[in-house]
Amino acid sequence: MYPDTQLYIDGQWRNALAGKTLPVTNPATDEVIGQVAHAATADLDLALAATERGFNLWRDTAAHQRANLMRKAAALLRERANAIAAIMTQEQGKPVAQAKIEILNAADVIDWFAGEATRTYGQIIPSRARDVQQQTLKLPVGPVAAFTPWNFPINQIVRKLSAALAAGCSIIVKGPEETPASPAELIKAFADAGIPAGVIALVYGTPAEISEYLLPHPTIRKISFTGSTRVGKHLAALAGQHMKKATMELGGHAPVLVFDDADLDAAAKELAQSKFRNAGQVCIAPTRFLIQQGVYEAFVEKFTAAVRELKLGNGLEDGVTMGPMVLGRSVDNIEALVQDAIAHGAKTCTGGKRVAGKGNFFEPTVLRDVPLSARAMSEEPFGPVALLRPFATYDEAIAEANRLPYGLAAYAYSRNIATVNALGRDVESGMLSINHIGFGLPETPFGGVKDSGHGTEGGSEAIESYLETRFVTVAGR
Ligand code: NAD
Repeated sequence: MYPDTQLYIDGQWRNALAGKTLPVTNPATDEVIGQVAHAATADLDLALAATERGFNLWRDTAAHQRANLMRKAAALLRERANAIAAIMTQEQGKPVAQAKIEILNAADVIDWFAGEATRTYGQIIPSRARDVQQQTLKLPVGPVAAFTPWNFPINQIVRKLSAALAAGCSIIVKGPEETPASPAELIKAFADAGIPAGVIALVYGTPAEISEYLLPHPTIRKISFTGSTRVGKHLAALAGQHMKKATMELGGHAPVLVFDDADLDAAAKELAQSKFRNAGQVCIAPTRFLIQQGVYEAFVEKFTAAVRELKLGNGLEDGVTMGPMVLGRSVDNIEALVQDAIAHGAKTCTGGKRVAGKGNFFEPTVLRDVPLSARAMSEEPFGPVALLRPFATYDEAIAEANRLPYGLAAYAYSRNIATVNALGRDVESGMLSINHIGFGLPETPFGGVKDSGHGTEGGSEAIESYLETRFVTVAGR
C-alpha cells in the first residue's frame, strides 16, 4: 500500500486549495503509485500565517518541554520504522533495509537535537564596572524555510527540522515531490507526538515557485537548502539580497586517496559498499578513486570483485543491495558520462550500461585509467560509477584531490602516521574519513567548503545557525 500525500498546514492534513496534484512514480517499475498535493501561493499564505503563530507559541515553550515532545516523535518513528521503510522504498527505490536504517538514524538525530535544545547556553561576560552585568542570550532566529531533495527523503528533512525545533523556531518544509510520502510519515510522528499546530508545515509544489515566494517573505528569517550547487548558488544569492541567514548543503565530488601502505582489503570492501549505497545518489559518495601506483592493480582487482557482489533490483526484494536511480534523467546523465569517459580512453572493469526494461536501473560501474579530460572527473556523477586512476606521489594526489571547486567529503586509506596527519591539513574538504567510513552521525559536523556550501547540519555547531545572539547589559542602579 502506498498512500497519497497531502499538505500539512496549521496542524491539518489537507489538499491544495486549487485541488492540484502531481503523480508519484515507483522508480523500480515506472508505475504511477500515488499523488502528491501541489501547493500554490494561496496555500503558502496559509502556511506563512500559521508558521508565524506557531513561532510565537513554540519559542515560549520551555526547552525541556520541546525536548520531551521531540523524543516522543523519535519513539513513534522507531515504532513505525518497518511500515515507513516500505513506503520509502516504493517511492525512492533504495533497498528496504537501507530505508529502515535511514529512519532509525532519523530517530537518533531527533533525540540528539532534543538534547541540544536544553544546551543553548549564553554567556556572562566580565564587566568593567562592579554593578554592571553583561550577558548574551541565545534566541530562536524565527520561522525557517527548508528545501530538501529526494535522495534521503527523511534524513534530509530531519536534520533541519530537529535543529529548528530544538532552537525554538517554527519551520515550513518544502519536501521532495518525487518522494513525498515518507517525509509525510516523519511529520506525522511529530504531529502525533503533540507538536502544536503551526510549528511545522509540509508543502510540495514547483520548487522554484515556492522558494521565490517564501525566501523573500518577511515572515521567513532563515533558509536551509540541500541540493545541487547550481540551485544552491541561486538561493544563496536570493538569501543575501533579502538578508536571510542561509545554510547550504550542496554537491560534491569526493576524492578517495589509497596509499601503497593501506589495508587494501578493508579499503576495497568498505569503499565498494559506500560508493554504491543509494545507487551512488549521495552527496558524500566516494567518486574519484586515486590509487598509489604500487597497489593500483591489486586495488582495481579487489574493488571490482567487491562491486560484482552487489545485487541490483527492486529494493522490496530479498537480497537486493542496490536499487534504481530516482529520476529517469539521472540514468541518461550517467550513461552519457560513462560513454564520454570511455571515448576519452577509460576502461570498463564492470558494469557500464543501463538495464533494459522497466525502471531506472544502471549497473554498478567501475571505470579504470580515467583521464582528467573525461567530463565525469569534473562533473558530479551522482550515480553508481566509480572513477579509478593511479598517482605517483603524495603531492600529486593532493593536487588532484583539491583540483575541483567542490569540498564536501574526502576519504583516505594509509597506515603511515605522517601521511595521515598531513592529510587532515592538506585536503580541502569539510569532512575527511581516514581508514574507515565514518560520516553522518548526529553528533559530528556535516557540511562542506568551497562550492559545496556553508554551515554544518550535525554536531554541536548545527543548532547555532537557528539561533541569534542577543547582548544584554544591565546596570544594577
Ligand atoms: P536539480 O538541481 O534540478 O535539483 C536538486 C534539488 O533542488 C531538488 O530537490 C529540487 O527539487 C530542488 N530545487 C531545484 N530548483 C529549486 C529552486 N529554484 N528552489 C528550491 N529548490 C529547488 O538537480 P536534480 O537533477 O534533481 O538532481 C541532481 C543533482 O542535484 C545532483 O547532481 C546533485 O548535485 C544534486 N543533489 C544533491 C543532493 C545532496 O544531498 N547534496 C541531493 C539531491 C540532489
